[in-house]
Amino acid sequence: MPNSAELIARDDAHVLHTYARSPLALVRGEGLTAYDAEGNAYLDFTSGIGVNSLGYAHPAWVRAVAAQAGALQHTSNLYYTAPCGQLAETLCRRTGLDRVFFGNSGAEANEGAIKAARKYAADVYGARRSKVLTLQNSFHGRTLATLAATGQEAFHKDFGPLPENFAYLPANDPAALAALDDGEAAAVIVEFVQGEGGVVPLEKPWVQALAARCAERDILLIADEVQTGMGRTGTLFAFEQFGVLPDLVTSAKGLGGGLPIGAVLMKQKVADHMAPGSHGSTFGGNPVACAGANAVLETLDEAFLAEVRRKAAALRAGLEALPHVRAVTGLGLMLGLALEAPYTAAAVRAACENEGLLVLTAKERVRLLPPLILTDADIAAALTVLRRVLGAQ
Ligand SMILES: *Cc1c(COP(=O)(O)O)cnc(C)c1O
Repeated sequence: MPNSAELIARDDAHVLHTYARSPLALVRGEGLTAYDAEGNAYLDFTSGIGVNSLGYAHPAWVRAVAAQAGALQHTSNLYYTAPCGQLAETLCRRTGLDRVFFGNSGAEANEGAIKAARKYAADVYGARRSKVLTLQNSFHGRTLATLAATGQEAFHKDFGPLPENFAYLPANDPAALAALDDGEAAAVIVEFVQGEGGVVPLEKPWVQALAARCAERDILLIADEVQTGMGRTGTLFAFEQFGVLPDLVTSAKGLGGGLPIGAVLMKQKVADHMAPGSHGSTFGGNPVACAGANAVLETLDEAFLAEVRRKAAALRAGLEALPHVRAVTGLGLMLGLALEAPYTAAAVRAACENEGLLVLTAKERVRLLPPLILTDADIAAALTVLRRVLGAQ
């Protein structure tokens, strides 16, 4: 078995350097604990960026995935399989939406949502109505169209020309809603809590005003719930807490519990315009990925989600009591820490890692996305490390 240094050197020599990686090579995990090649344990409050919703090696998830891998690993979308239909049925029942398209990632889910929204607008109102409004400081993915949708210049630089007719609104600004009135907008895309943008939640009254204006103008409201969905914010999807039902909802990250899967959920009126041949994916709806997602959804019942809310409140209260924390932002188990100077998110993240706690950053904030299965003991352990790291100065 190669050691960490060997694993890191080989990767660095051959994998494209698009990530700023920590010098950590993880080899296995159980619950919230990840182990490196030397057997050092890390308490993981990252969930692989919001993906491992049930932690590492959750027994029900492992059973479902292993059984499906041994039975039928892939068929293409030319044939029907049980896990795909079961997942679609459950997602529709639990969201109130009508149809699902499956892809393999968050970016792909958002691409699918943008395509479906433009198709609806083109069919119903004509080609002129193709504009996609997104929010400043948003993040929607790394493909060209989702980069265009991402309202942060830094991500666009040198990758143009990008797909056209995207525009960016300031979040939580009532005056910005006037941009919906020019007859050119097909859709608006929002994250209810901007994740990569720094764990910044939208204000509920503004979201409701936006949804009302969209409904008046028949502009489709797309919720990018790639990060906020699947229990992360304390309800199955964050839109439930904002009192709106979007026309389209995208999901990915936590959906598969660790396997690549993305989904676009939509109302029937949008789905009616997506005929055979209008969209597709070779891997989309893969039975192993869907079996994993079905195990996640079965686990996320109402009692489990109530526990997520209870533990989120406990974690938040503990974070608010830490020294040198200026503010705690976010919703549920998607939390950001704004720090007092001279503490920086990057330095705190690195110090936590040295103390055996894995956390994330988002812009200038420390970001916590722990697995939804965390225990009160895990919360106490993480707070102990953070207290030490923040009190040391
Ligand atoms: C992570 C993320 C994406 C992109 O998902 P990928 O699976 O990396 O393509 C899109 N939108 C939001 C809100 C995200 O957090």
